[in-house]
Amino acid sequence: MDKGARYAHVSVGSFDRFEGKQFVKEATGATSCEISFGTLASGAAVPFFHSHKANEENYIILSGAGRFQVDGDVFDIAEGSVVRVSTACDRNIKCTSAEPMTYICIQAKEGSLGDYTMTDAEIHERESLL
Ligand code: ZN
Repeated sequence: MDKGARYAHVSVGSFDRFEGKQFVKEATGATSCEISFGTLASGAAVPFFHSHKANEENYIILSGAGRFQVDGDVFDIAEGSVVRVSTACDRNIKCTSAEPMTYICIQAKEGSLGDYTMTDAEIHERESLL
């Protein structure tokens, strides 16, 4: 882990060896969202449905394929899929591919994003130390 006054860097390691679920908010000290990494073995689903009261979730599928359920709707997902789920609805995710499915879930307060890339970012000239 690398940590400075204005940043924190953590790693969950290589996705091909990653197993289970890992939340990184505590390790990074994030204040705007919760990020977790998850993996599901072939045929496995999260063992429960859940909803959130205040936070929306954005699931990003990094590898594998499966099915996603939001209340009574079910659809296919695969590497590259991004799924946003609102508050107050049940969700679950299942791996249907032969290989495990690895995904990131970003959880943030619904409706909290004001400015973003085109209105919040500023480009600066400075010496690169890379
Ligand atoms: Zn959740």
